Amino acid sequence: MKKTQIPLIDLNLEREMYEAEVMQTLTRVIKKAHYIMGEEVRSFEVEFAQYIDAKHAISVGNGTDALVIALEALGIGCGDEVITTPFTFFSTAESIALVGATPVFVDVELDSFNMDPSLLEEKITAKTKAILVVHLFGQPAEMDEISAVAKKNSLFVIEDACQAVDSEYKSKRMGTFGDIACFSFFPTKNLGCFGDGGMIVTNSDKLAVLCKALRNHGSGINGEQAYEILHCMDTQGALVESCESTLFGTQKYYNYIIGHNSRLDEIQAAVLRIKLRYLDVETQSRREHAETFNKALTGSAYKTPSESANTKHCYHMYILQHEERDAIVEHLKNSGIATGIYYPIPLHLQKAFEDLEYKYGDFPNAEYLAKRTFAVPIYPKLTEEQMQYITGMLLKY
Ligand SMILES: *Cc1c(COP(=O)(O)O)cnc(C)c1O
Repeated sequence: MKKTQIPLIDLNLEREMYEAEVMQTLTRVIKKAHYIMGEEVRSFEVEFAQYIDAKHAISVGNGTDALVIALEALGIGCGDEVITTPFTFFSTAESIALVGATPVFVDVELDSFNMDPSLLEEKITAKTKAILVVHLFGQPAEMDEISAVAKKNSLFVIEDACQAVDSEYKSKRMGTFGDIACFSFFPTKNLGCFGDGGMIVTNSDKLAVLCKALRNHGSGINGEQAYEILHCMDTQGALVESCESTLFGTQKYYNYIIGHNSRLDEIQAAVLRIKLRYLDVETQSRREHAETFNKALTGSAYKTPSESANTKHCYHMYILQHEERDAIVEHLKNSGIATGIYYPIPLHLQKAFEDLEYKYGDFPNAEYLAKRTFAVPIYPKLTEEQMQYITGMLLKY
C-alpha cells in the first residue's frame, strides 16, 4: 500500500489545474515577444484594482519590493519610526529597515495573531510616521481601532496584505483600509503566480504616480510626474514656475528620481489573470476546510484559529496551537503529513535586528505563539479523506 503523503501546499496539483489554460495563454503572450510592461500587466492591474475595489493597482517584482516602494512613496526614511508587529514574515520589518527607518514592535493579540491596537499609542514618539499592519495568515487586523489611532496621531497606515487577498473586514476586501497596501504573489500565497510577483494598491493619485516611478528607475512620464510632486509643487499642489525648465523629457532614458527595477513580467501577469478568476471558489474551499477541521477538533487539546466578528478570513494558512507543538509536528511528519511553523522566531529576537536591542520577554504574546503555532494543509483541493486522515492523526497524538 502506498504511504499517505500530504504536502502543506500542493503546487503540482495547482499546476495541473491551470496548466492547459496557462499554456494556451503563454503561447499567445510569447508570440508577441513583449515581455515587460505590456498588455497583460496593464490588464491585470486594472482587474486587480477592481477586485480589491481600489482606485490604483501598481504591479511590482515581489511583496517585499511592494513594501519598500510603498514606504518610499510615503516619504519614510532615515530617522523615522514605523510601528509594526513582531509576529510576521521577516519582510514586514525588513522593508522598514531597508528604507533606513526603524521598526518599532508592538505585541500581538493571542486570538487574532495581529497587532494589539490598545498597545499602539504608548509606542508613538515624535519620530513615528506610520503603522505597518499585517493581516496574518489571512485574518484581518482590527482596522477601525488601528485607523482611529493613526488618524488621531496623523500617522500613515500601510497594510501588509501579502497573506490576505480575498479577506474582508466589514464586507470590504483588505487593501483599502490604509493609505496604501501591499500584496505578494509568491507561488505559495493564496493567489500565487509561477515565480515572483507583487502589487501595491492605493486610492491616492499622488502615491500611485510615485510608486509607478519608483518601480521603474524614476524614468519616463511617471518619473517626471513624481519629480513634480516631490520638487515642483507648492503646498497647494500648484506647479512652481521656476521648476518647469528642469523637466527635460518623458522618454526612456530620462531619470527623475532614484528608483528600482521591480516590475511584474507579462508571463506572471498572464498567469495571475487566469488564477484571479478562480480565487473566490478557492477561498470558499479553504473556508469549508477550516470549518471541517474546527468541528473535528472541538473539545480537543488543540486550539483552533479564531475568526474575528465582522471579518472574512481567507485561510491563507490554517494555524493550530498546542503545548507540545514540536512533538506533534514530528508525529505528523512520520504519518506523511507536512506542516509549517509560522514563525519560529519573533522578529524582535532575530539576529538581523539585534541592533534594536530587544530581549526575550519584551513581547510575551508573540513569544508564546512562536512556540505553539503550526500550520496543517488547507489547500483548496484537499479531499475529505485527506482531512479525515489529518484530524485522525492529530487526535491520535
Ligand atoms: C510573503 C510575505 C511578504 C513578502 O512577499 P515576497 O513576495 O516573498 O517578497 C511580506 N509580508 C508577508 C506577511 C508575507 O507573507
